[in-house]
This record gives sequence, structure tokens and C-alpha cells, in this order.
Amino acid sequence: MTRSTKTLCPYCGVGCGLEVSPPAAPGKPTNRDKQGNPIWKVKGDRSHPSSQGMVCVKGGTIAEALDKDRLKYPMMRDSLDEPFRKVSWDEAFDRIVDRIQTARFLHGPDSICMYGSGQFQTEDYYTAQKLLKGCLGTNNFDANSRLCMSSAVAGYIQSFGSDGPPCCYDDLEETDCAFLIGTNTAECHPIVFNRLRKHHKKNRNVKMIVVDPRKTQTAEAADLHLAINPGTDIDLLNGIANLLMRWGKINTLFIEDGTQNFPAYAEVIAHYPPELVARKCGIRLDDLEKAARYWADSKRVLSMWSMGINQSSEGTAKVRTIINLHLMTGNIGKPGAGPFSLTGQPNAMGGREAGGLAHILPGYRVVKNPQHRQEVETYWKLPGFINSNPGLAAWDMILGLETGDVRVFWVAATNPAVSMPDIERTKAALRKSNFTVMQDAYYPIETAAYAHVLLPAAQWGEKSGIMTNSERVVTYCRAFRDPPGQARADWEIFAEVGRRLGFGEYFPWRNSADVYGEFVGLTRDRLCDMTGLSHDRLAELGPIQWPCPEGMAEEEVKNSSKRLYTNLEFATPDKRAKFAAYHSKGLAEPADAEFPLVLTTGRVYEHWHTQTRTGRIEKITKKHPHPFIEIHPRDADKLGIDNDTWVKVRSRRGEGNFLARVTKAIAPGTVFVPMHWGALWAENSEANALTHPEACPDSLEPELKACAVQLVPL
Ligand code: SF4
Repeated sequence: MTRSTKTLCPYCGVGCGLEVSPPAAPGKPTNRDKQGNPIWKVKGDRSHPSSQGMVCVKGGTIAEALDKDRLKYPMMRDSLDEPFRKVSWDEAFDRIVDRIQTARFLHGPDSICMYGSGQFQTEDYYTAQKLLKGCLGTNNFDANSRLCMSSAVAGYIQSFGSDGPPCCYDDLEETDCAFLIGTNTAECHPIVFNRLRKHHKKNRNVKMIVVDPRKTQTAEAADLHLAINPGTDIDLLNGIANLLMRWGKINTLFIEDGTQNFPAYAEVIAHYPPELVARKCGIRLDDLEKAARYWADSKRVLSMWSMGINQSSEGTAKVRTIINLHLMTGNIGKPGAGPFSLTGQPNAMGGREAGGLAHILPGYRVVKNPQHRQEVETYWKLPGFINSNPGLAAWDMILGLETGDVRVFWVAATNPAVSMPDIERTKAALRKSNFTVMQDAYYPIETAAYAHVLLPAAQWGEKSGIMTNSERVVTYCRAFRDPPGQARADWEIFAEVGRRLGFGEYFPWRNSADVYGEFVGLTRDRLCDMTGLSHDRLAELGPIQWPCPEGMAEEEVKNSSKRLYTNLEFATPDKRAKFAAYHSKGLAEPADAEFPLVLTTGRVYEHWHTQTRTGRIEKITKKHPHPFIEIHPRDADKLGIDNDTWVKVRSRRGEGNFLARVTKAIAPGTVFVPMHWGALWAENSEANALTHPEACPDSLEPELKACAVQLVPL
């Protein structure tokens, strides 16, 4: 192959377009890494509407991980004490089918679980839903989006009647005021931040407020940085609302025509006078007033958030409290305004569309709604098969392993032995597992140590499929190379197991285009209508934003609105958005005398999640050789900790050693550890040895962002 291929970056939810060229151009030497592997050339795709040719270090170096430590053959063992042996696909499939049938017969379908990933393409997600929720009759499919976006999903559904971020990236260049809360956008969603930063620099009247206990790169660019105490987000948001109400800066017409439940909300925010809020948040009163003034004086406010809001024991309440401010001021459904969740994983959005969480179904449907279940069952020709109860969420699967209720645990494209909270408890549960299948592109990874069967998966560039980014732009990602060894696309593996379980007629597809063609039929007349999309059309026209119903002509596609709710009609039965009235509860585990500091976790610019790819890219690992902990000089002095020395960090659940970075970038009383290091990359330095699994009751997303710790110099 000599021509370049257009595709999408498989790291974060920004969803940047990439152009990939073969390692060797005609007549030129082959581009190789130090081990001699040919390296594909990657650059930003200028024609991609979301990223316009921009790319960050992760996207730019992605090809360097394509040939490192690949899992090429199925492997198996009878117990975790034995070494793996190479087996044929037939042998691996026979074992999996046998274990699923035994578990179904002896323990019922809910003893079978699959834990998937926002790294899946939409076809992978969809096939897994049909296998688990349709054929097997269990809703026990959850994805790592549970640890990432499920609070945003719950917040949108409860406030607007449907999931779906209402904004688009053009809003970054049309806003008067960007309100970034719980997001280090500069490091975690760099290309979104580039677009916003350019607009902010060019227009002096445009304001940027950043709310974060750390002075991150994002906060450094802000006009106003509010370093609030961890867990006081709802206090701050209600405090801003209180001031807007006092100043009469609310949109009464919008509230009356487009919303419900405002009186209950007004009653709650009356309890958040600015003096009290400033004290509780640990910020100056005039800074709080300044933030409210920016909101009041702006015609178009764009809020953005990510894990600092979602990963919380009151995550859904936080999301809805952000949305409240937009409803109160009419900042939605127009250019430059709206509540905008920045998705973590590259195709978590596609997963939500395909029903890839334990409580949802394809086409933005929910398990608990009997009509939704019936619509999907009819489409699948599997009447009565979908269980009426949501399945096990990610952490509940771990608890199911602990109790023995989960008999088959199938993990694909994610690494729970690093990413789950309370990691020692997680590992102990994984060790007890009756039967675990690990399906991944790489080996070794930490979770493989707990698997009985390893299945080699094709990854980015080796299978053709669809991904949706944070602004609902759908991109066809064409394969540009063959998978190594015997690796197969995730959807093909799921479909083959379905056939061997006796459900052959439900998996008739010849290729991923057929899978996608079937999936989009389930989005007909839904908010995320994609019936006008197909692999062929996306390949021909390039990325397209949904909604894109069948029959939409090319011109209409180009000129259709990029935003949801522009007619101010929401997806609720009465078409009104719903205010939520929440008081702040604070952290599930606040600091106390024994564990006096609050640990917060997050990412660094160069690394991606548990390092399955980035840990294999030399220029990235050189930049971050050790896990570290940020400590404020005041706390470091008190504890006798010097910069660049090792510190033991303890919580109620575990401990780890981290290199101290003494810096004023972190607020006193708070410390920060990046979440990327698992047992494979650094011994005894896992952030999740410290975190706890207390979760939001609505979204079931654990509070990975905060726990109480003590520090001891080593
Ligand atoms: Fe990839 Fe995200 Fe970087 Fe874009 S911003 S290149 S999607 S990691």
C-alpha cells in the first residue's frame, strides 16, 4: 500500500482525524524503530472537521506502539498458577462456549459478565450487546466508560430526557465565557484546548474560568482560577446561581417556557449565600463574585467538564448542577453556549449510542423502559429475551467475583487490574475468578495475570469501523494494515462465540459494514438518528455529525445544525428540561486526623490511561520515568519531605511509593498522583491502591478523584 489512509486517533474523546502512510514510500528506505519494526507515518488530517489537522503527542506517536508486545495467538491455562500455552482459535472458542453454557445452565445468565471498553469501535460494542443482552438474556455488559462518563450520561438523561452532549467544537470559537470545571483540558483534551486557547488569546473580552484544586496548565491560561477545596463543586455552582438570582441575571422567559422544577431549585440555592460558599470552597469572596459576574455579563457561556466532575460519589448531582446554571441563564441551544462533557475514551460516545453500559440499550434507550426493551427485541427478533433489570456495573462485577456469583468474566480492551478503585481488593477478586477471558491487542498487561484464556484482538488500523467523538462527529476508520498473527476484530470474536452458542442466525454479517448497517436501524427516530450513515457514505463524504436521518442529502448534512435543542424542545415527555435541586454532600471520604490530606488523581499530557500503548513508546516513557506525587510546600515542610525524594502514601485500603514534587501548583491540604502506573511499569506505586469504590448512586461511577491519605517520608 502506498497511499495514505484517513482515520481517527484511538486515544481520547477529542477524536482527531489522522492520516497514516506506509513505512516505506516507493524508492525510499523503510522507516523503522530501534527494534527494526517498520513505523507507519502519522500526521493530522486537515480535512477532519473536529481537529483541522492538529494532533497532540499521543496521536503523533501512536504508530510506534503498533508492533510492540503484540498478543498474536490465543493462549490458555487451566489455573492461574500454570503458564499459558498456545492454542488454536477452535480450542479457545470451545473452552469459552463450554464455560458460558455451564454457567448459564447451573447459575443462570446473570452469572456471565463482559467488561468492555471505549476503545471498541461501534461494531464491537453493538455485537457484544446483541450477544449478551439479546441472545444470552443478561444485561451484564459494562464498559470502562462507567469509570469515566456515566455521570454525564445520567445527568443528560435526567435533565434533558436523553443522553447526548448538546454542544459542538465550533462553540469553542463562539463563546464569550468558557467555564471549565473538573477538567485539565490542556493536558487531557489538548486539541479542544488549542482551539479554545486561540479564541481566548485573540479576543480579549472572552473570559476563561477554571475550577480545579490544582494550578494545571489549563488553570494557568485562565482569567480566573478558582482552586476550590475538593468536593465543594456543588457549593460553588449553587453559590454562583445564588448571586445570579440576587442580581436578577436569570432568563425568566426561558425558565417559564422551556423548563420545569425551577421553584425547588430556587429554594435550594437560597441556602448558598456567597460568604458561606466562599468560606466552604476555600476561595476569596471577590473571586466567587467575579466568576458569577463573568456568567452574568456573557451572552454565551460554554461549560466543559470531565473526570473532576464525573468521578464523584455525587457525580450526577454535579453534572445536573452545572446544567442548572445553563437552564437558569438560557445558555443552551445556541452558538457558543451549553453544557459540554468532554469524553475520555475515543469511542465512549459510540458505546453510549450502541447501548454499551449495563443500564442502557442501543439507540439511547434504557433497560428499565418496557417500550424500549420491546423495540430492541422486535428489531433483533428475540422477543422476551432482554432482562428488565439493569446488569452489573463495573464495580459490581468485581463484587460478583468476590462472592462467586460471577462465573464467567470476559474482559476486552481494558485493564481493570490497574484502573479499578481499591486495586488490592480488585486483584484479590480477580484471583478468585472461576473463569476469566482477557481479549486484548497487547501482552503482557496487568489483567492478563488473572486470565485463563487470552484472545488476540486486532487494534487501531487493523480493522475497519466507526467511532464517534465528543461533539457527535462520526468517523469511518479504515484498516490500513493486517492484524499480526491470528488476531481478529473484537466484533468477529463476539459473533463467532454467538454462532457457536447456537445463535448463528443473529450474526449473519460478512463484514463490519453489515454490522454497522444493522446497528443504525436501531437509531431510527431517536435523538441519535444515524440511519443516513453507512461505511460507504462516511468513506465518501468524510466525517458526519449526527443526527443524520435517512434521506438527508449531502447539502443538508453539511448545513444541518451542529447543536442539539436549538428549538428549545428537550427529549422529556413535556419537552421541558428539568432543574435539579441538590444540596452539596461533599467527599465520601474526607480528610481527618489520621488521614489528613485529600488525594486527587488524574492524567499527564503524554500518557494514556494504564500505559498499555504509551508505556511502550520510548519518547513518552523517557519524559515520565517515575510515578510522582505533587505536594504543596507548606505540607511538605510540615512532614519533612524534600523535593525529589520518595514518599510513602497510605490510605485506609493500601499504600504506594511516589517521588515527591513539591510545588505550589497544588493547593495546601491536597496532593495529586497520576493514574497511569500499574504493577507492570512501577512496583508498588499504583494510584488505585489508595482510592475507594464509593460511587454516585445514580451513575454508579466511583469517586476515583478523591480519598483521604497520610504521607510518610522514606
Ligand atoms: Fe488523539 Fe486526543 Fe491527542 Fe487528538 S487530542 S491527537 S484524539 S490524544
